[in-house]
Amino acid sequence: MLDLIIIGAGPGGYEAAFEAARQGLSAALVEKDALGGTCLNRGCIPTKTLIHAADVYREIQGCGRFGIVSGRPSVDMKMLQEHRKMTVESLQRGIAARLKAAKVPVYQGTGMIRMLRTDESDEKKPESKKRESEKGKQVCVTAPDGLETVLEAKNILIATGSVPSVPPIPGSDLPGVMTSDDLLFYEGEPLESLLIIGGGVIGVEFAGIGQSFGTKVTILEALPSLIANLDRELGQSLKMSLKKKGADIHTGAKVSALAQTPEGICCTYTEKDGEHSCTAQAVLVATGRRAYTGGLFPEGGAPQMERGRILVNDWYETSIPGIYAVGDVNGQIQLAHAATAQGLRAVRHIAGLAVDSEPDLIPSCIYSSPEIASVGLTAEEAKARGITAKSHKILSSANGKSVLTLQERGFIKVVYEADTHVILGAQLLCARATDMVSEFAVAIREKLTLEQMSAVVRPHPSFSEMITEAVRI
Ligand code: NAD
Repeated sequence: MLDLIIIGAGPGGYEAAFEAARQGLSAALVEKDALGGTCLNRGCIPTKTLIHAADVYREIQGCGRFGIVSGRPSVDMKMLQEHRKMTVESLQRGIAARLKAAKVPVYQGTGMIRMLRTDESDEKKPESKKRESEKGKQVCVTAPDGLETVLEAKNILIATGSVPSVPPIPGSDLPGVMTSDDLLFYEGEPLESLLIIGGGVIGVEFAGIGQSFGTKVTILEALPSLIANLDRELGQSLKMSLKKKGADIHTGAKVSALAQTPEGICCTYTEKDGEHSCTAQAVLVATGRRAYTGGLFPEGGAPQMERGRILVNDWYETSIPGIYAVGDVNGQIQLAHAATAQGLRAVRHIAGLAVDSEPDLIPSCIYSSPEIASVGLTAEEAKARGITAKSHKILSSANGKSVLTLQERGFIKVVYEADTHVILGAQLLCARATDMVSEFAVAIREKLTLEQMSAVVRPHPSFSEMITEAVRI
């Protein structure tokens, strides 16, 4: 019997497999699709590949500002999609090689958890919970050719991810109404116009790609601001930046219907001053993702769930002892690096290691232009927790590297405890924000003060000099 069966080979699942091998556990990985999960096949990596290409395109268009003379660039979407495919395949080969080196076999097929073999007399005993987790659990893997393999292990880790969630808007099944899964594989000519429903992370990242390629972008967001779960100033600045590049953005706008017209897809929405409509060549529905557990549990055999997501405790164990759920499927934080952190924590618990009770500190990153990143508390969140906090904000306009590379105006804001100067959070909107945020993650985790962060000598000229400026008050 194995120690662990992992269902789902995304960053939650495959990193858990590597950790299991490091901890000397015997493990097997079950995957119905390609290695890498949403992140590698339909999420982070393909999106960032398109974003990088869009950035290059925009740089070429603007290269005259650096004295470089170039012809008018054009986009070959088929070649760009070929590059996306090669990037993904290269990373898939990397995961496969690492799994082979870790001696974790991969079973290609759909995994279904079989009813546990419970012993009634055990259930009456107080220590039955512990013993139950040590009993074998089965996963039946149905391969694409229909062949079934039954695996048995002491523990199961579910890392089956999420799928786009499309609200029941009339007309959302029209051709030309897409989710990010569809738009990522788009090979046609750059769109003339794109209407995006949802101004969350997916919505604003695709807005940036579209704008770079010359698409007229409209965003309709139901909440009062874009990227509403982050610091308000980040959402406001991003809205200004997108608008400056020509986007039409409506916040507090609820979409009620989509309909095909000769001019394109017409979207009806309500804003505070009444009903409006706008028409675009295509529509992207980016209104969130929902946990995916399709066919995973036999009838009556599911652990406790809430609105489709699997409920877990601090070390990601479900209500069924020995069955764990990490990543998007538990709906806590839908980010690849959060799934990985959760997977490591779950495997360490399975291996009997002490699991740190402090929750993982998860940075949020948006690959907009300029990039956005946030970690720890915002000033508002600190206040809500009764912490006397202050914040210090610096602009990127005095940073040499930002000026010489002609970056858009940005900022870094540091939130710190007023008395002790211990750093509590940071919000960044500037070039390389998604890399620089890690310095703040280290600082917050290690409870460093402004003075300790400021004592670090950072190279000149570099974007990271902005960090020094931000922590010097
Ligand atoms: P999201 O939850 O971030 O944003 C969806 C937005 O749609 C919300 O702001 C919501 O108010 C709005 N909305 C919902 N129904 C609407 C309607 N009928 N009309 C108008 N607006 C409506 O979801 P997402 O952007 O789809 O992303 C899904 C998940 O994937 C998120 O958890 C996100 O963090 C993750 N993701 C992360 C990254 C990254 O880290 N860079 C990139 C892409 C996706």
